[in-house]
Amino acid sequence: MSEKPVRVRFAPSPTGPLHMGGIRTALYNYLFAKRNKGTFILRIEDTDQTRFVEGAQDYILDALSWCGITPDEGPRIGGGFGPYVQSQRQAMYKPYAEQLVSNDKAYYAFDTGEELDHMREQAKLIKMPNWQYNSVTRMSMKNSLTLPADEVEKRIANGDPYVIRFKMPRNEDTRFEDVVRGWVVVNTNNLDDKVLFKSDGMPTYHLANIVDDHTMQISHVIRGEEWLPSAPLHVLLYDAFGWEAPQFAHLPLLLRPDGNGKLSKRDGDRLGFPVFPTNWTTAEGELYSGYREKGYHPGAFINMLALLGWNPGTNEEIFSLEELVEIFTLNRVSKAGAKFDAEKTKWFQQQYLRATANDELASELKSLFSTDKSDAYLSRVCQLMKERATFVQDILTEGDYFFKTPSEYDETTIRKKWKDNSEQIMQGWLNELQQIENFTAPTIEHSFKSYLEKLGLGIGAVLPLFRLLTTGKGMGPSMFEIAELLGKEETVTRMKNGLLTISSLTV
Ligand code: GLU
Repeated sequence: MSEKPVRVRFAPSPTGPLHMGGIRTALYNYLFAKRNKGTFILRIEDTDQTRFVEGAQDYILDALSWCGITPDEGPRIGGGFGPYVQSQRQAMYKPYAEQLVSNDKAYYAFDTGEELDHMREQAKLIKMPNWQYNSVTRMSMKNSLTLPADEVEKRIANGDPYVIRFKMPRNEDTRFEDVVRGWVVVNTNNLDDKVLFKSDGMPTYHLANIVDDHTMQISHVIRGEEWLPSAPLHVLLYDAFGWEAPQFAHLPLLLRPDGNGKLSKRDGDRLGFPVFPTNWTTAEGELYSGYREKGYHPGAFINMLALLGWNPGTNEEIFSLEELVEIFTLNRVSKAGAKFDAEKTKWFQQQYLRATANDELASELKSLFSTDKSDAYLSRVCQLMKERATFVQDILTEGDYFFKTPSEYDETTIRKKWKDNSEQIMQGWLNELQQIENFTAPTIEHSFKSYLEKLGLGIGAVLPLFRLLTTGKGMGPSMFEIAELLGKEETVTRMKNGLLTISSLTV
Protein backbone atom coordinates (compact mmCIF):
# COMPACT_ATOMS: atom_id res chain seq x y z
CA MET A 1 0.00 0.00 0.00
CA SER A 2 1.15 3.50 -0.70
CA GLU A 3 2.54 5.56 2.17
CA LYS A 4 0.92 8.76 0.96
CA PRO A 5 -1.78 10.35 3.10
CA VAL A 6 -5.18 9.02 2.10
CA ARG A 7 -6.99 11.41 -0.21
CA VAL A 8 -9.95 10.02 -2.11
CA ARG A 9 -12.51 11.65 -4.33
CA PHE A 10 -16.03 11.07 -5.52
CA ALA A 11 -16.20 12.47 -9.03
CA PRO A 12 -19.74 12.42 -10.45
CA SER A 13 -20.70 14.01 -13.74
CA PRO A 14 -23.74 16.29 -13.50
CA THR A 15 -25.59 14.45 -16.26
CA GLY A 16 -28.66 13.77 -14.13
CA PRO A 17 -29.60 12.80 -10.59
CA LEU A 18 -27.28 10.56 -8.61
CA HIS A 19 -28.43 6.96 -8.76
CA MET A 20 -28.10 4.92 -5.55
CA GLY A 21 -25.04 3.21 -7.05
CA GLY A 22 -23.40 6.64 -7.12
CA ILE A 23 -24.28 7.20 -3.47
CA ARG A 24 -22.72 3.84 -2.63
CA THR A 25 -19.49 4.88 -4.40
CA ALA A 26 -19.50 8.15 -2.45
CA LEU A 27 -20.18 6.24 0.77
CA TYR A 28 -17.30 3.78 0.31
CA ASN A 29 -14.95 6.67 -0.51
CA TYR A 30 -16.14 8.51 2.59
CA LEU A 31 -15.81 5.46 4.85
CA PHE A 32 -12.36 4.65 3.51
CA ALA A 33 -11.20 8.24 4.01
CA LYS A 34 -12.54 8.48 7.56
CA ARG A 35 -11.27 5.04 8.53
CA ASN A 36 -7.77 6.05 7.41
CA LYS A 37 -7.84 9.57 8.85
CA GLY A 38 -7.79 10.84 5.29
CA THR A 39 -9.63 13.41 3.21
CA PHE A 40 -12.83 12.89 1.22
CA ILE A 41 -13.13 15.16 -1.81
CA LEU A 42 -16.09 15.89 -4.04
CA ARG A 43 -15.18 16.84 -7.60
CA ILE A 44 -17.72 17.64 -10.30
CA GLU A 45 -16.68 16.30 -13.71
CA ASP A 46 -18.55 18.44 -16.18
CA THR A 47 -16.22 18.51 -19.19
CA ASP A 48 -18.84 16.96 -21.44
CA GLN A 49 -20.96 20.02 -22.05
CA THR A 50 -23.34 18.09 -24.31
CA ARG A 51 -24.51 15.94 -21.40
CA PHE A 52 -24.81 18.74 -18.85
CA VAL A 53 -28.15 18.73 -17.01
CA GLU A 54 -29.40 21.81 -15.23
CA GLY A 55 -29.85 21.28 -11.50
CA ALA A 56 -27.86 18.03 -11.37
CA GLN A 57 -24.93 19.52 -9.46
CA ASP A 58 -27.19 20.92 -6.74
CA TYR A 59 -28.98 17.59 -6.63
CA ILE A 60 -25.68 15.78 -5.99
CA LEU A 61 -24.67 18.16 -3.19
CA ASP A 62 -28.08 18.01 -1.52
CA ALA A 63 -28.40 14.23 -1.81
CA LEU A 64 -24.96 13.71 -0.22
CA SER A 65 -25.87 16.11 2.54
CA TRP A 66 -29.16 14.25 3.25
CA CYS A 67 -27.14 11.02 3.50
CA GLY A 68 -24.67 12.59 5.92
CA ILE A 69 -21.76 11.94 3.55
CA THR A 70 -20.02 15.28 3.99
CA PRO A 71 -17.00 16.09 1.82
CA ASP A 72 -13.94 17.67 3.41
CA GLU A 73 -13.15 19.51 0.18
CA GLY A 74 -15.41 20.33 -2.73
CA PRO A 75 -17.74 22.87 -4.32
CA ARG A 76 -19.58 25.04 -1.72
CA ILE A 77 -16.93 23.90 0.85
CA GLY A 78 -13.64 24.86 -0.79
CA GLY A 79 -10.21 23.47 0.07
CA GLY A 80 -6.56 23.84 -0.88
CA PHE A 81 -6.81 22.04 -4.24
CA GLY A 82 -9.74 23.85 -5.87
CA PRO A 83 -11.62 24.71 -7.87
CA TYR A 84 -13.52 21.43 -7.56
CA VAL A 85 -15.64 21.81 -10.68
CA GLN A 86 -13.76 20.82 -13.84
CA SER A 87 -15.26 23.49 -16.07
CA GLN A 88 -13.71 26.05 -13.69
CA ARG A 89 -10.30 24.39 -14.14
CA GLN A 90 -10.53 24.41 -17.94
CA ALA A 91 -7.44 26.56 -18.55
CA MET A 92 -5.10 24.12 -16.84
CA TYR A 93 -5.67 21.02 -19.02
CA LYS A 94 -4.34 22.08 -22.40
CA PRO A 95 -0.68 22.52 -21.33
CA TYR A 96 -0.79 18.94 -20.01
CA ALA A 97 -2.11 17.64 -23.33
CA GLU A 98 0.61 19.60 -25.14
CA GLN A 99 3.25 18.25 -22.80
CA LEU A 100 2.30 14.76 -24.00
CA VAL A 101 2.52 15.90 -27.65
CA SER A 102 6.04 17.28 -27.03
CA ASN A 103 7.07 13.99 -25.45
CA ASP A 104 5.73 11.98 -28.40
CA LYS A 105 3.04 10.41 -26.21
CA ALA A 106 0.18 12.16 -28.02
CA TYR A 107 -0.44 13.90 -31.34
CA TYR A 108 -2.67 16.42 -33.08
CA ALA A 109 -5.37 14.93 -35.30
CA PHE A 110 -7.20 16.99 -37.90
CA ASP A 111 -9.61 14.42 -39.30
CA THR A 112 -13.13 15.75 -39.63
CA GLY A 113 -16.21 13.93 -38.43
CA GLU A 114 -17.10 13.07 -42.05
CA GLU A 115 -13.65 11.67 -42.69
CA LEU A 116 -13.88 9.45 -39.63
CA ASP A 117 -17.37 8.28 -40.69
CA HIS A 118 -16.03 7.53 -44.13
CA MET A 119 -13.23 5.37 -42.67
CA ARG A 120 -15.78 3.44 -40.60
CA GLU A 121 -17.96 2.85 -43.68
CA GLN A 122 -14.98 1.67 -45.72
CA ALA A 123 -13.96 -0.70 -42.93
CA LYS A 124 -17.47 -2.16 -42.81
CA LEU A 125 -17.30 -2.89 -46.54
CA ILE A 126 -14.23 -5.01 -45.99
CA LYS A 127 -15.93 -6.73 -43.01
CA MET A 128 -14.10 -4.87 -40.26
CA PRO A 129 -17.09 -3.50 -38.34
CA ASN A 130 -15.20 -2.02 -35.38
CA TRP A 131 -12.83 0.40 -37.02
CA GLN A 132 -10.66 2.21 -34.51
CA TYR A 133 -8.18 5.05 -34.59
CA ASN A 134 -5.18 3.12 -33.30
CA SER A 135 -1.51 2.28 -33.73
CA VAL A 136 -2.22 0.66 -37.11
CA THR A 137 -4.77 3.00 -38.67
CA ARG A 138 -3.30 6.28 -37.38
CA MET A 139 -0.66 6.25 -40.10
CA SER A 140 -3.28 6.56 -42.82
CA MET A 141 -5.08 9.45 -41.12
CA LYS A 142 -4.61 13.23 -41.10
CA ASN A 143 -2.50 13.99 -38.04
CA SER A 144 0.80 15.36 -36.83
CA LEU A 145 2.41 11.93 -37.30
CA THR A 146 1.55 11.80 -40.99
CA LEU A 147 1.49 15.46 -42.12
CA PRO A 148 4.68 17.51 -42.61
CA ALA A 149 5.60 19.59 -39.55
CA ASP A 150 5.14 22.93 -41.36
CA GLU A 151 1.62 21.98 -42.42
CA VAL A 152 0.73 21.00 -38.86
CA GLU A 153 2.00 24.37 -37.66
CA LYS A 154 0.10 26.18 -40.38
CA ARG A 155 -3.16 24.39 -39.59
CA ILE A 156 -2.86 25.19 -35.91
CA ALA A 157 -1.96 28.82 -36.63
CA ASN A 158 -4.97 29.04 -38.99
CA GLY A 159 -7.27 27.88 -36.24
CA ASP A 160 -8.20 24.63 -38.00
CA PRO A 161 -10.14 22.38 -35.63
CA TYR A 162 -8.10 19.55 -34.14
CA VAL A 163 -8.15 17.08 -31.28
CA ILE A 164 -5.23 15.68 -29.31
CA ARG A 165 -5.11 11.90 -29.27
CA PHE A 166 -3.13 9.58 -27.03
CA LYS A 167 -0.51 7.60 -28.93
CA MET A 168 -1.40 4.16 -27.68
CA PRO A 169 1.75 1.96 -27.61
CA ARG A 170 1.66 -1.04 -29.88
CA ASN A 171 1.40 -4.55 -28.44
CA GLU A 172 2.36 -3.95 -24.83
CA ASP A 173 0.80 -5.54 -21.79
CA THR A 174 -0.37 -2.89 -19.39
CA ARG A 175 -1.00 -4.09 -15.85
CA PHE A 176 -2.12 -2.80 -12.49
CA GLU A 177 -3.24 -4.32 -9.21
CA ASP A 178 -6.81 -3.44 -8.36
CA VAL A 179 -7.53 -3.55 -4.61
CA VAL A 180 -10.81 -5.39 -5.24
CA ARG A 181 -10.02 -7.41 -8.35
CA GLY A 182 -6.34 -8.24 -8.09
CA TRP A 183 -4.10 -8.03 -11.15
CA VAL A 184 -5.67 -6.68 -14.31
CA VAL A 185 -3.69 -7.12 -17.53
CA VAL A 186 -4.74 -5.70 -20.90
CA ASN A 187 -2.82 -5.72 -24.16
CA THR A 188 -2.62 -2.27 -25.74
CA ASN A 189 -3.60 -3.72 -29.12
CA ASN A 190 -7.11 -3.85 -27.68
CA LEU A 191 -7.10 -0.13 -26.94
CA ASP A 192 -7.55 2.81 -29.30
CA ASP A 193 -5.96 6.25 -29.54
CA LYS A 194 -8.39 7.99 -27.23
CA VAL A 195 -9.07 11.69 -27.66
CA LEU A 196 -7.58 13.58 -24.71
CA PHE A 197 -8.40 17.10 -25.76
CA LYS A 198 -11.41 18.07 -27.86
CA SER A 199 -11.86 20.60 -30.63
CA ASP A 200 -14.21 22.61 -28.37
CA GLY A 201 -11.25 23.47 -26.12
CA MET A 202 -12.29 21.06 -23.39
CA PRO A 203 -10.35 18.05 -22.13
CA THR A 204 -12.08 14.67 -22.32
CA TYR A 205 -13.01 12.81 -19.16
CA HIS A 206 -9.80 10.75 -19.38
CA LEU A 207 -7.36 13.66 -19.45
CA ALA A 208 -9.19 15.82 -16.91
CA ASN A 209 -9.64 12.87 -14.56
CA ILE A 210 -5.93 11.98 -14.56
CA VAL A 211 -4.68 15.55 -14.33
CA ASP A 212 -7.06 16.28 -11.45
CA ASP A 213 -6.34 13.08 -9.57
CA HIS A 214 -2.65 13.85 -9.84
CA THR A 215 -2.83 17.54 -8.95
CA MET A 216 -5.31 16.90 -6.13
CA GLN A 217 -2.88 14.24 -4.80
CA ILE A 218 -5.46 11.46 -4.87
CA SER A 219 -4.07 8.31 -3.26
CA HIS A 220 -6.90 5.85 -4.08
CA VAL A 221 -9.42 5.86 -6.91
CA ILE A 222 -12.53 4.07 -5.65
CA ARG A 223 -15.21 3.97 -8.35
CA GLY A 224 -17.76 1.77 -10.08
CA GLU A 225 -16.90 -1.27 -12.16
CA GLU A 226 -18.12 0.50 -15.30
CA TRP A 227 -14.82 2.45 -15.23
CA LEU A 228 -12.64 -0.66 -15.19
CA PRO A 229 -12.24 -0.67 -19.01
CA SER A 230 -10.84 2.89 -18.79
CA ALA A 231 -8.31 2.03 -16.10
CA PRO A 232 -5.57 0.61 -18.44
CA LEU A 233 -5.62 3.86 -20.42
CA HIS A 234 -5.42 5.81 -17.17
CA VAL A 235 -2.43 3.74 -16.03
CA LEU A 236 -0.73 4.41 -19.40
CA LEU A 237 -1.45 8.12 -19.04
CA TYR A 238 0.17 8.22 -15.60
CA ASP A 239 3.18 6.51 -17.14
CA ALA A 240 3.24 8.93 -20.05
CA PHE A 241 3.33 11.88 -17.67
CA GLY A 242 5.91 10.15 -15.48
CA TRP A 243 3.53 10.28 -12.49
CA GLU A 244 2.85 7.63 -9.89
CA ALA A 245 -0.63 6.19 -10.39
CA PRO A 246 -3.03 6.01 -7.44
CA GLN A 247 -4.29 2.66 -6.17
CA PHE A 248 -7.43 1.54 -7.97
CA ALA A 249 -10.46 -0.15 -6.42
CA HIS A 250 -13.35 -0.91 -8.78
CA LEU A 251 -16.61 -1.59 -6.94
CA PRO A 252 -19.06 -4.30 -8.01
CA LEU A 253 -22.18 -3.37 -9.97
CA LEU A 254 -25.55 -3.04 -8.30
CA LEU A 255 -27.83 -5.58 -9.93
CA ARG A 256 -31.58 -5.41 -10.35
CA PRO A 257 -33.63 -7.63 -8.02
CA ASP A 258 -35.02 -9.67 -10.92
CA GLY A 259 -32.41 -11.13 -13.27
CA ASN A 260 -28.77 -10.18 -13.47
CA GLY A 261 -28.72 -6.86 -15.27
CA LYS A 262 -27.37 -3.63 -13.89
CA LEU A 263 -29.88 -1.70 -11.79
CA SER A 264 -31.09 1.12 -14.00
CA LYS A 265 -33.14 4.22 -13.31
CA ARG A 266 -36.14 2.64 -15.02
CA ASP A 267 -36.13 -0.43 -12.74
CA GLY A 268 -37.34 1.55 -9.75
CA ASP A 269 -40.54 2.66 -11.38
CA ARG A 270 -41.07 -0.71 -12.98
CA LEU A 271 -40.64 -2.67 -9.73
CA GLY A 272 -42.02 -0.10 -7.30
CA PHE A 273 -39.04 1.21 -5.32
CA PRO A 274 -36.92 4.35 -5.60
CA VAL A 275 -33.56 4.22 -7.36
CA PHE A 276 -32.60 7.75 -6.33
CA PRO A 277 -31.81 9.14 -2.88
CA THR A 278 -34.20 12.08 -3.24
CA ASN A 279 -36.94 13.04 -5.68
CA TRP A 280 -35.86 14.22 -9.12
CA THR A 281 -38.07 15.91 -11.67
CA THR A 282 -36.81 16.03 -15.24
CA ALA A 283 -37.02 19.14 -17.42
CA GLU A 284 -40.00 17.44 -19.09
CA GLY A 285 -41.74 17.18 -15.71
CA GLU A 286 -41.25 13.43 -15.23
CA LEU A 287 -40.84 12.53 -11.55
CA TYR A 288 -38.42 9.88 -10.28
CA SER A 289 -39.11 9.10 -6.66
CA GLY A 290 -36.50 9.27 -3.92
CA TYR A 291 -35.90 7.46 -0.63
CA ARG A 292 -36.12 10.68 1.36
CA GLU A 293 -39.60 11.54 0.12
CA LYS A 294 -40.79 7.94 0.57
CA GLY A 295 -40.08 8.42 4.27
CA TYR A 296 -36.78 6.53 4.64
CA HIS A 297 -34.38 7.47 7.40
CA PRO A 298 -31.04 8.43 5.80
CA GLY A 299 -29.30 6.07 8.24
CA ALA A 300 -31.38 3.13 7.01
CA PHE A 301 -30.66 3.99 3.38
CA ILE A 302 -26.92 4.26 4.03
CA ASN A 303 -26.87 1.10 6.15
CA MET A 304 -28.53 -0.85 3.33
CA LEU A 305 -26.10 0.56 0.73
CA ALA A 306 -23.04 -0.18 2.86
CA LEU A 307 -23.91 -3.88 2.80
CA LEU A 308 -24.54 -3.95 -0.94
CA GLY A 309 -21.10 -5.08 -2.07
CA TRP A 310 -19.25 -5.06 1.28
CA ASN A 311 -19.61 -7.24 4.37
CA PRO A 312 -18.41 -6.69 7.93
CA GLY A 313 -17.25 -10.31 8.31
CA THR A 314 -19.93 -11.00 10.96
CA ASN A 315 -23.70 -11.53 10.87
CA GLU A 316 -24.33 -8.10 12.26
CA GLU A 317 -26.36 -5.88 9.95
CA ILE A 318 -27.29 -2.69 11.75
CA PHE A 319 -24.58 -0.04 11.70
CA SER A 320 -24.57 3.71 12.08
CA LEU A 321 -22.33 5.76 9.82
CA GLU A 322 -19.85 6.17 12.70
CA GLU A 323 -19.80 2.41 13.29
CA LEU A 324 -19.22 1.78 9.60
CA VAL A 325 -16.24 4.15 9.70
CA GLU A 326 -14.75 2.01 12.48
CA ILE A 327 -14.90 -1.25 10.55
CA PHE A 328 -14.84 -0.47 6.84
CA THR A 329 -12.03 -1.98 4.78
CA LEU A 330 -11.70 -2.32 1.02
CA ASN A 331 -10.62 -5.95 1.28
CA ARG A 332 -14.14 -6.88 2.33
CA VAL A 333 -15.61 -5.43 -0.86
CA SER A 334 -16.73 -8.27 -3.11
CA LYS A 335 -15.96 -8.72 -6.79
CA ALA A 336 -19.40 -10.11 -7.62
CA GLY A 337 -22.31 -7.82 -8.45
CA ALA A 338 -24.64 -7.07 -5.52
CA LYS A 339 -28.34 -7.69 -5.97
CA PHE A 340 -30.57 -4.93 -4.69
CA ASP A 341 -33.40 -6.13 -2.43
CA ALA A 342 -36.28 -3.69 -1.91
CA GLU A 343 -37.85 -5.76 0.90
CA LYS A 344 -34.58 -5.85 2.79
CA THR A 345 -34.36 -2.08 2.41
CA LYS A 346 -37.76 -1.78 4.12
CA TRP A 347 -36.52 -4.08 6.85
CA PHE A 348 -33.59 -1.71 7.53
CA GLN A 349 -36.05 1.17 7.70
CA GLN A 350 -38.18 -0.74 10.26
CA GLN A 351 -35.13 -1.35 12.42
CA TYR A 352 -34.26 2.35 12.30
CA LEU A 353 -37.79 3.40 13.16
CA ARG A 354 -37.83 1.08 16.16
CA ALA A 355 -34.48 2.33 17.35
CA THR A 356 -35.46 5.98 17.09
CA ALA A 357 -36.43 7.72 20.36
CA ASN A 358 -40.17 8.28 20.77
CA ASP A 359 -39.72 12.02 21.22
CA GLU A 360 -37.80 12.26 17.97
CA LEU A 361 -40.46 10.27 16.11
CA ALA A 362 -43.12 12.45 17.71
CA SER A 363 -41.58 15.59 16.31
CA GLU A 364 -41.34 14.01 12.85
CA LEU A 365 -44.97 12.94 13.17
CA LYS A 366 -45.96 16.46 14.16
CA SER A 367 -44.47 17.83 10.96
CA LEU A 368 -46.78 15.63 8.88
CA PHE A 369 -50.13 17.04 10.00
CA SER A 370 -51.72 19.61 12.25
CA THR A 371 -52.83 18.45 15.67
CA ASP A 372 -53.63 19.96 19.04
CA LYS A 373 -52.33 16.88 20.88
CA SER A 374 -49.48 17.41 23.33
CA ASP A 375 -45.93 16.27 22.64
CA ALA A 376 -46.28 13.72 25.43
CA TYR A 377 -49.40 12.28 23.78
CA LEU A 378 -47.68 12.05 20.38
CA SER A 379 -44.67 10.43 21.97
CA ARG A 380 -46.88 7.75 23.59
CA VAL A 381 -48.61 7.12 20.24
CA CYS A 382 -45.18 6.58 18.66
CA GLN A 383 -44.15 4.25 21.45
CA LEU A 384 -47.30 2.15 20.95
CA MET A 385 -47.20 2.13 17.17
CA LYS A 386 -43.56 1.95 16.16
CA GLU A 387 -43.30 -1.83 16.35
CA ARG A 388 -46.05 -2.01 13.73
CA ALA A 389 -44.81 0.66 11.38
CA THR A 390 -42.16 0.95 8.70
CA PHE A 391 -42.37 4.71 8.13
CA VAL A 392 -43.39 7.53 10.45
CA GLN A 393 -46.26 8.12 8.05
CA ASP A 394 -47.61 4.63 8.87
CA ILE A 395 -48.11 5.69 12.50
CA LEU A 396 -50.56 8.25 11.23
CA THR A 397 -52.37 5.99 8.78
CA GLU A 398 -52.45 2.86 10.95
CA GLY A 399 -53.07 4.80 14.16
CA ASP A 400 -55.53 7.36 12.83
CA TYR A 401 -57.87 6.51 15.76
CA PHE A 402 -55.46 8.23 18.16
CA PHE A 403 -56.49 11.47 16.50
CA LYS A 404 -60.13 10.98 15.55
CA THR A 405 -63.19 8.99 16.55
CA PRO A 406 -63.63 6.04 14.20
CA SER A 407 -66.25 6.51 11.53
CA GLU A 408 -65.83 3.05 10.02
CA TYR A 409 -65.60 -0.34 11.70
CA ASP A 410 -63.56 -3.25 10.38
CA GLU A 411 -65.96 -5.51 8.49
CA THR A 412 -64.00 -8.74 8.97
CA THR A 413 -64.01 -8.30 12.73
CA ILE A 414 -67.74 -7.58 12.72
CA ARG A 415 -68.39 -10.66 10.59
CA LYS A 416 -66.21 -12.98 12.67
CA LYS A 417 -66.65 -11.66 16.20
CA TRP A 418 -69.91 -9.73 16.53
CA LYS A 419 -72.48 -12.21 17.84
CA ASP A 420 -76.11 -11.86 18.97
CA ASN A 421 -75.04 -11.27 22.56
CA SER A 422 -72.13 -8.96 21.75
CA GLU A 423 -74.09 -5.77 22.23
CA GLN A 424 -75.18 -6.91 25.66
CA ILE A 425 -71.65 -7.98 26.64
CA MET A 426 -70.21 -4.66 25.53
CA GLN A 427 -72.94 -2.68 27.21
CA GLY A 428 -72.04 -4.51 30.45
CA TRP A 429 -68.34 -3.74 29.93
CA LEU A 430 -69.17 -0.09 29.31
CA ASN A 431 -70.92 0.03 32.66
CA GLU A 432 -67.90 -1.54 34.37
CA LEU A 433 -65.53 0.79 32.62
CA GLN A 434 -67.40 3.84 33.79
CA GLN A 435 -66.81 2.71 37.37
CA ILE A 436 -63.03 2.66 37.01
CA GLU A 437 -61.53 5.48 39.03
CA ASN A 438 -57.87 5.17 38.31
CA PHE A 439 -58.04 4.91 34.50
CA THR A 440 -54.67 3.31 33.77
CA ALA A 441 -53.80 0.31 31.59
CA PRO A 442 -53.24 -2.13 34.51
CA THR A 443 -56.53 -1.20 36.24
CA ILE A 444 -58.49 -1.33 32.99
CA GLU A 445 -56.97 -4.72 32.23
CA HIS A 446 -57.71 -6.00 35.72
CA SER A 447 -61.29 -4.82 35.59
CA PHE A 448 -61.77 -6.28 32.06
CA LYS A 449 -60.49 -9.67 33.15
CA SER A 450 -62.72 -9.76 36.25
CA TYR A 451 -65.70 -8.89 34.05
CA LEU A 452 -64.89 -11.76 31.68
CA GLU A 453 -64.45 -14.14 34.59
CA LYS A 454 -67.85 -13.15 35.94
CA LEU A 455 -69.42 -13.94 32.55
CA GLY A 456 -67.29 -17.02 31.99
CA LEU A 457 -65.96 -15.68 28.65
CA GLY A 458 -62.52 -15.91 27.05
CA ILE A 459 -60.43 -12.83 26.23
CA GLY A 460 -60.12 -13.80 22.53
CA ALA A 461 -63.88 -13.46 22.03
CA VAL A 462 -64.35 -10.13 23.77
CA LEU A 463 -61.17 -8.05 23.49
CA PRO A 464 -61.60 -7.63 19.70
CA LEU A 465 -65.05 -6.14 20.34
CA PHE A 466 -63.63 -3.61 22.76
CA ARG A 467 -60.98 -2.72 20.16
CA LEU A 468 -63.51 -2.53 17.36
CA LEU A 469 -65.75 -0.10 19.26
CA THR A 470 -62.91 2.11 20.39
CA THR A 471 -60.61 2.15 17.37
CA GLY A 472 -62.67 0.75 14.49
CA LYS A 473 -59.86 -1.74 13.78
CA GLY A 474 -59.36 -5.47 14.09
CA MET A 475 -55.74 -5.20 15.23
CA GLY A 476 -53.37 -2.87 16.99
CA PRO A 477 -51.16 -2.44 20.05
CA SER A 478 -52.34 -3.15 23.63
CA MET A 479 -55.98 -2.17 23.93
CA PHE A 480 -55.56 -1.26 27.62
CA GLU A 481 -52.72 1.13 26.78
CA ILE A 482 -54.83 2.65 24.02
CA ALA A 483 -57.75 3.18 26.40
CA GLU A 484 -55.50 4.78 29.00
CA LEU A 485 -54.09 7.16 26.41
CA LEU A 486 -57.50 8.09 25.00
CA GLY A 487 -58.75 8.68 28.55
CA LYS A 488 -61.93 7.55 30.22
CA GLU A 489 -64.26 10.13 28.75
CA GLU A 490 -63.17 9.55 25.16
CA THR A 491 -63.18 5.75 25.55
CA VAL A 492 -66.71 5.85 26.96
CA THR A 493 -67.95 8.15 24.18
CA ARG A 494 -66.39 5.94 21.51
CA MET A 495 -67.91 2.80 22.98
CA LYS A 496 -71.35 4.39 23.00
CA ASN A 497 -70.97 5.61 19.41
CA GLY A 498 -69.64 2.25 18.31
CA LEU A 499 -72.47 0.36 19.98
CA LEU A 500 -75.04 2.55 18.27
CA THR A 501 -73.45 2.24 14.84
CA ILE A 502 -72.68 -1.47 14.90
CA SER A 503 -76.02 -2.54 16.36
CA SER A 504 -77.75 -0.57 13.62
CA LEU A 505 -75.51 -2.26 11.02
CA THR A 506 -76.19 -5.76 12.30
CA VAL A 507 -79.98 -5.49 12.81
N1 GLU B 1 -17.04 11.33 -13.85
C1 GLU B 1 -17.02 9.89 -13.72
C2 GLU B 1 -18.46 9.47 -13.37
O1 GLU B 1 -19.35 10.15 -13.72
C3 GLU B 1 -16.04 9.52 -12.65
C4 GLU B 1 -15.36 8.21 -12.85
C5 GLU B 1 -14.18 8.12 -11.91
O2 GLU B 1 -14.43 8.11 -10.69
O3 GLU B 1 -13.06 8.12 -12.36
O4 GLU B 1 -18.71 8.48 -12.74
